[in-house]
Amino acid sequence: MQNEQTRGLLITLSGPSGSGKGTIVKSLLSKRADTVLSVSATTRAPREGEIDGVHYHFIDRETFLRMIEDNAFLEYAEYNGNFYGTPKAPVEAELLAGHNVLLEIEVQGAEKVMDSGAEMVSIFITIPSMQELERRLRGRDTETEETILSRLSIAERELKRAFRYDYVVLNDDVDAAVERIETIIQAENMRYSRMSKTVMEVLEVC
Ligand code: ADP
Ligand code: 5GP
Repeated sequence: MQNEQTRGLLITLSGPSGSGKGTIVKSLLSKRADTVLSVSATTRAPREGEIDGVHYHFIDRETFLRMIEDNAFLEYAEYNGNFYGTPKAPVEAELLAGHNVLLEIEVQGAEKVMDSGAEMVSIFITIPSMQELERRLRGRDTETEETILSRLSIAERELKRAFRYDYVVLNDDVDAAVERIETIIQAENMRYSRMSKTVMEVLEVC
């Protein structure tokens, strides 16, 4: 197995739709050349401005089901009537190349990765209040009234699963939330398993 010091961190980022995950990820990626975002596959229709292969791989249900059969997903889940999944091969390739890989995924999928025993760091993004979440969802102007209401009710269920995560980051301010995530990355890189080689190198010359 690859030395943990050179392998990147697998980081799952979950939180209610509208909590600000996409905004945070965009800022984090612009600041960190060592971190990449996994591009998920989905059966959801593209929103205006979303580009195939950049925001998602937009695929039909039949292709998605075939990929499940081929064991091509690290995890997948059904959310609000559509399938979403993380293609396995690109994630492994990036981790091997030493890059941190962010999975921006909902809680069922994140729990599947946790339960798989994979080496990972899980972060739950939370919001100051449900009223603020509703304001952000409406402000984004991408959803119908029906999907806003269903996303709000899913949000309540998701908040109840926050206890499963290693870390909870409050997104009351985007810059502050990004800084909190960078602190987590720094701390994770100081775990003994990632620092043991540095310690051993000192001992070798004693
Ligand atoms: P998600 O990816 O979790 O669904 P988005 O990143 O699309 O959420 O954010 C939802 C909306 O809330 C966007 O319009 C975004 O600009 C806004 N937003 C994100 N973070 C904050 C924040 N800290 N304060 C106020 N508005 C925010
Ligand atoms: P949206 O439709 O707003 O882009 O995404 C809906 C939800 O699906 C969000 O919570 C998002 O994080 C999640 N999601 C996106 N990609 C994946 C994925 O590959 N797997 C899982 N389990 N959830 C995903």
